[in-house]
Amino acid sequence: MVKQNQPQQRAAFAIVTVVLPGPDRKRNPAPYLFHITYRNPNPTELGCVMTWNVTGGREEYQIAAERTDDGYLYWHCTCPDAVYHGENRHAYCCKHVHGLQALLDTIGNPARRERTVA
Ligand SMILES: [Zn+2]
Repeated sequence: MVKQNQPQQRAAFAIVTVVLPGPDRKRNPAPYLFHITYRNPNPTELGCVMTWNVTGGREEYQIAAERTDDGYLYWHCTCPDAVYHGENRHAYCCKHVHGLQALLDTIGNPARRERTVA
């Protein structure tokens, strides 16, 4: 079955591959797929800004970005690493969150626009 792409549905299908230290003991670089599952149409609103599913590790994990009332973005991840370090939650982010933050830093604020050469 072929689905027609509707602009408002496109974000639901966005998948980004990020290479992170892998799940094996040697932490060999491995591709992780970040699949956006929710994006708040008003990203400055308090509460959940966006959620992602992450695959490529031992299991599938969920990441959520939450905007607090002081404007801070608080990142949640369901991986064991993030849960283990949860007590120091503002001081630690797991590799999935770091990878996603690095990606958003890269694509979020482009320094220049590409020119079209025709
Ligand atoms: Zn994680």
